[in-house]
Amino acid sequence: MNESNRMDRALEETGLTDIHEKIVGKIRIDETDAQRLFETHDLNLLGYLANLANRQKNGDTALYLLNRYVNYSNYCILSCQFCSFARKKRDNDGFQLSLEEILKRGKLALEAGATELHIVGGLHPSLPFDYYVDMLAGLKAQAPNVTLKCFTAIEILHLGWLARKPVPETLARLKQAGLDSLTGGGAEIFAPEIRREIARGKESAEEYLEVHRIWHEMGSGSTCTMLYGHIESLADRVDHLRRLRKLQDRTRGFTGFIPLAYQPESNRLSVKHPPTGADSLRTIAVSRIYLDNLDHITAYWIGLGLDLAQIALRYGADDLQGTIEEEHIFHMAGAASPAKQTRQSLTAAIREAGKIPVQRDTFYQPITDEAA
Ligand code: SF4
Repeated sequence: MNESNRMDRALEETGLTDIHEKIVGKIRIDETDAQRLFETHDLNLLGYLANLANRQKNGDTALYLLNRYVNYSNYCILSCQFCSFARKKRDNDGFQLSLEEILKRGKLALEAGATELHIVGGLHPSLPFDYYVDMLAGLKAQAPNVTLKCFTAIEILHLGWLARKPVPETLARLKQAGLDSLTGGGAEIFAPEIRREIARGKESAEEYLEVHRIWHEMGSGSTCTMLYGHIESLADRVDHLRRLRKLQDRTRGFTGFIPLAYQPESNRLSVKHPPTGADSLRTIAVSRIYLDNLDHITAYWIGLGLDLAQIALRYGADDLQGTIEEEHIFHMAGAASPAKQTRQSLTAAIREAGKIPVQRDTFYQPITDEAA
């Protein structure tokens, strides 16, 4: 039996022939289809379908980024149940970087060839709005060509509160100071009853989407995420993807989607079955097929490990994200991955997966084409 016959038979046995036809015909699948894909036991078939959908958009290339993470502080006024990163002032392992220390990290990133600084932190109890403005302006003055991808939606709401300005004015002031892109963090899971259980006190789904909508309508881009593999159901994942796709239909401002595998250590959320490799591949694959209006799906190696992220390049992902250099949020929650990768380790992983590595910028645009 040849490959094509094998796939036809698998499609028939799983009852997914109609979804295959939709992918081939570039017809949007609906939420019921997404749920059926999540529930299929044939992971290889799902990978085949996701790979098909990915190749229609991205051919045989896979992207990587030279970037550096900076967490300016892990002090936070909130206490999200799933979070292992946040600390209170009374804790002895809290930290807060001075502007000089942040500029130093920015300089190191520049020397290492990074094209992006990715900066997030907790909702600090006392730093003033000027700290954030000065941070952006100082980094831009030091390295105008390094893209500043900073802050989650809840940080923007917090900064607006500090500045006593509505979100549009807050974003405009930050953009003027040097903000180039918002990060996608903090989406967690949108379903309100689950959100209450894992991140009580955090912004609602509507508020998260509203911050991104406003940012997009200012002509700027951002990424979006989903934290999966804790207490949510598959239907909650589909609902999350549905809300992202709906906003993307309106703004086209999301540059990529980054599914984040939940890390279970050092927090107050009791999770019996954190995400397995199969669950991560399934989630990436369904995301690729369902989010037809998003060009790029990232296999986030920090949460998956580079070995699984590499395999995900055959399950619908077309991006490995970046070199990162220094990571706290996932590692404080038990991630077993190293803290950084090199350009060589990322390109080797991409090549071994049978793809062509292409360096990208923050907005997923190619910087150099190594295939050339
Ligand atoms: S997830 Fe973010 S907002 Fe929530 S406690 Fe952690 S740092 Fe604070």
